[in-house]
Amino acid sequence: MKSIFDFFQSRLTLKLFIVCVSLSLGGPVSALELCQQNFINYDSFFEVFENLPYEYPQKHKLEIAQQGEPVLRHMADPIPHQFIEDERIQALIDQMEFTMKKAGGVGIAAPQVFIPFRLLIAQKDVMINPEYTPVHRGKTISFEGCLSMAYCGFVTRYRKIKVSYTDRNGRRIHKTLRGFSAIVVQHEVDHLNGRLFSDGYIEAYRSYLARAQSFFRRRSTKRLQK
Ligand SMILES: [Zn+2]
Repeated sequence: MKSIFDFFQSRLTLKLFIVCVSLSLGGPVSALELCQQNFINYDSFFEVFENLPYEYPQKHKLEIAQQGEPVLRHMADPIPHQFIEDERIQALIDQMEFTMKKAGGVGIAAPQVFIPFRLLIAQKDVMINPEYTPVHRGKTISFEGCLSMAYCGFVTRYRKIKVSYTDRNGRRIHKTLRGFSAIVVQHEVDHLNGRLFSDGYIEAYRSYLARAQSFFRRRSTKRLQK
């Protein structure tokens, strides 16, 4: 079992820790009013799509929805294939990449910038309509932060997943991911399904408890054998 000190030595935790620190140091730049006005009362993909801007002001970070915003609890809509190469979707992707970098994040999902579409960026990969399945049932406990939340916490995640998505050029990609990359994708896909990592707290707690119990049970069995 990993100790909390091991968590802080991993690159994942370091990056997520930086996200949390940067969140606590500076709030987001003022939002594009467009996002606030048009995208909260969305009804369908087309309604939101029609209101997307063709271009964004340069060097403008989008407002990041914070926990409590309804858009974070909404099941995001798939982007129809024929719209992927539309300049409005391409501009949105560029602006999300910019916003993620400015916020010091390693992943961002469209609902986090008030756009309820199945679109996410996980590290350097742009994933449209992504789906994943675990390769096996093996899980790990990850210590995560989120651009939409002011705190970090432990969550259980699959160690290895198969992910399929469409890239920004319209090609369908299939990949197997493990470790940190797999964790980022699972975290961001959760956003597309209206889930936040805090929803997994109880599961992570139970998993920790079960591991601790088996550790002490093994130790006491060894002592009895001596
Ligand atoms: Zn998040």
